[in-house]
Amino acid sequence: MTVSEPVIELTRIEKVYHAERPEIAVRAVDGVSFKVEAGESIAVVGPSGCGKSTLMHLIGCLDRPSGGVYKINTKEVSQLSDDERAKTRNRYIGFVFQTFNLLPRLSALENVELPLLYGRGSAAKERALRALQRVGLADRAHHLPSELSGGQQQRVAISRAIVTGPSLLLADEPTGALDTKTSLEVLDILDELNREGTTLIIVTHDLSVARRMRRAIKMRDGRVEADGSPEVVLGPRLQPEPVAEGGE
Ligand code: ADP
Ligand code: MG
Repeated sequence: MTVSEPVIELTRIEKVYHAERPEIAVRAVDGVSFKVEAGESIAVVGPSGCGKSTLMHLIGCLDRPSGGVYKINTKEVSQLSDDERAKTRNRYIGFVFQTFNLLPRLSALENVELPLLYGRGSAAKERALRALQRVGLADRAHHLPSELSGGQQQRVAISRAIVTGPSLLLADEPTGALDTKTSLEVLDILDELNREGTTLIIVTHDLSVARRMRRAIKMRDGRVEADGSPEVVLGPRLQPEPVAEGGE
């Protein structure tokens, strides 16, 4: 690979929420700057309410920052219209949520087909089926989400996230609703995608998950408190750390 431009670059990114009373502003993300290179694997950690999900929504182009500059592949995306932002998201980014967010009345295959903008033709079906194969679920293609286990639902959600071939995969507490064994299966899939070149950013409150990544970013009160190797940011591993079950 040649010397690459960063996949994403955040410069003093802010997100301010104005709740019911406009004079009370919540600075959910408060001046965050960092770059991510192609192929990195990053854990975002920090206490509940510190702005992790808000930051992931901004990175994932699900939301627009109140301030700062956000670039994806050197292209400035902070001030795009909703429509342009949706296109950017579809082109570059896959997003996995803690609660899977599958549509309950659609089969696994139909859920995975959704991001394929060119309709539901046979090409889309084949592509969706390959994405399901990728996570080992081709034999569940015609099942409804309610007929699948939590781990299987999350794997469907991962294949929906990767069906468009995104260079950046974002996962917000992807194992937060899963038991230990299932969590490990999901993490193995994410690891494998990362080894194949997909840049991975994962929010987790689970240190043993964070330590699987090569970089950790620790947030506090909407800011980056530490950014570096997991050893340095999280401290050395003292005891075997059990994979925590359940979300925040
Ligand atoms: P985390 O994911 O680290 O738990 P969040 O990003 O969800 O944190 O939230 C950061 C802060 O922003 C919290 O104080 C939260 O209450 C606030 N917040 C998040 N989303 C909204 C919203 N849509 N409107 C108002 N405040 C919000
Ligand atoms: Mg969150």
